[in-house]
Amino acid sequence: MIQMNEVYKKYPNGIMAANGFDVKIQSGEFVYVVGPSGAGKSTFIKMMYREEKPTKGTIMVNGIDIAKLKRKRVPYLRRNIGVVFQDFKLLNKLSVYENIAFALEVIEEQPKVIRQRVMEVLDLVGLKHKARMMPDELSGGEQQRVSIARSIVNSPKVVIADEPTGNLDPETSWEIMNLFEEINSRGTTIIMATHNREIVNTIRHRVIAIENGVIVRDEQRGDYGYES
Ligand code: ADP
Ligand code: ADP
Repeated sequence: MIQMNEVYKKYPNGIMAANGFDVKIQSGEFVYVVGPSGAGKSTFIKMMYREEKPTKGTIMVNGIDIAKLKRKRVPYLRRNIGVVFQDFKLLNKLSVYENIAFALEVIEEQPKVIRQRVMEVLDLVGLKHKARMMPDELSGGEQQRVSIARSIVNSPKVVIADEPTGNLDPETSWEIMNLFEEINSRGTTIIMATHNREIVNTIRHRVIAIENGVIVRDEQRGDYGYES
């Protein structure tokens, strides 16, 4: 479902953050992306949802080469990909409910369908009772649950997460991981950049390790492989 061929990325400052990525990720997989800071993990995943455009190469997502995708088509791509960030990126002036409904309102979904779907995903993340609250009234873990609910409300085939537990304490991190496990078990592909050694070594999945813009290791049920 996602396939990179000979993908290179050179930033305007001359840094080569991708030095020939070649990788194939199948539908339904759960993939961890690990490696030292500055290795190119964010660049790798940002190219999958066209937050960054590769300098060279092809990136097929659901049969479309998104490296060649016209800029005006990018919003359509984003509807089929959920994204979760380390710092949640919720809209602070909107309620929990509105943050999640937003994605469906822009595609002009029927109000009845929106209500039903938002409550469904809020239920899945265990926050139905906090639908009316504002993001700053929630703990970090709860805010991350809201952002996960937002990422799946469109029923995307893939969810991409960039260090989703990076700002959370260990116990909350495990709860968030259980949610991703649940979403993956329902058939959604998960691609997650992480520095969480304990999680990677406990909930085993495919591990792609990146160093200096190169995939140096790609193992099914791999381990974290770094000291910290
Ligand atoms: P990681 O996510 O593994 O920490 P990144 O993909 O963020 O790595 O960064 C890879 C390299 O590209 C680093 O040297 C970083 O400084 C550089 N880089 C990242 N984003 C940009 C940017 N927008 N402009 C210039 N250089 C960047
Ligand atoms: P088009 O194919 O419609 O002509 P491009 O996708 O080639 O448009 O992008 C045109 C310009 O916008 C380029 O300079 C590119 O770097 C920049 N760009 C493309 N995608 C993004 C994005 N997601 N965010 C910010 N700038 C972008």
